[in-house]
Amino acid sequence: MKVMNNNHTVARRKLLQLGTIALGTTIATKATAFQVDSPQKQETIKETTIALDTLDENSTPEKILEELLLGNQRFVENKPESRNQDYIRLQEVAKDQKPLVSIMSCADSRVPVEVIFDRGFGDLFVVRDAGNIATPEEIGSLEYGTYVLGSKVIMVLGHEKCGAVKAALEGKPLPGQMGSIIAAIQPAIDRANKEDSEKVYTDTIKQNVMLQIKNLNSSPLLHDLVEKGKLKIVGAYYSLTTGEVSIIS
Ligand SMILES: [Zn+2]
Repeated sequence: MKVMNNNHTVARRKLLQLGTIALGTTIATKATAFQVDSPQKQETIKETTIALDTLDENSTPEKILEELLLGNQRFVENKPESRNQDYIRLQEVAKDQKPLVSIMSCADSRVPVEVIFDRGFGDLFVVRDAGNIATPEEIGSLEYGTYVLGSKVIMVLGHEKCGAVKAALEGKPLPGQMGSIIAAIQPAIDRANKEDSEKVYTDTIKQNVMLQIKNLNSSPLLHDLVEKGKLKIVGAYYSLTTGEVSIIS
């Protein structure tokens, strides 16, 4: 009987604890619902979104690039403002998109593009593949991002410790269609400085960025936008270690 009483006490205590947890959850949920549903709160979010976002279609490519890099600076300093990542922004851009920046990045999981630039819905038109190589499909996608959607900057973004570039440097045969990636990077190896064995990997990654920019410039459509001053194509390098994006061309 004594044991049963103890069990009863334990069970009652657990019930009380569960009740406390449940109550806490309810309060938290109600508080969240109030914040989201309140018209006043919605207005605050909307005003914040617009006030913080200084990019628009009348900005120059240089200004847009500057603003993009400021986002990376916020990320590196661990002071992100989560720009355009709220539900209201989602609803705003569901109607239409005008991404002012297109980015061709590696598919590497350690390069989450919107995160490292502190950007959100509708800001970046992102094209990704292993090795950030400009295949006809990538070039066509970037023509769409610029000529049709109005991006004024294309950034080709290479990154530290790129596995695709490493595989190209090793030169081993690869199964499936992975060899096509290596072939697209090969000319970058030929251009890289091989005198410094410690820097050859990093230099090849940067040379690959330059090579892919050259491939993008082979598009008459992109080249024409650049010539008219409506588009700026830049190369950049992302450090996996620090999170910093550095312009290299
Ligand atoms: Zn990579």
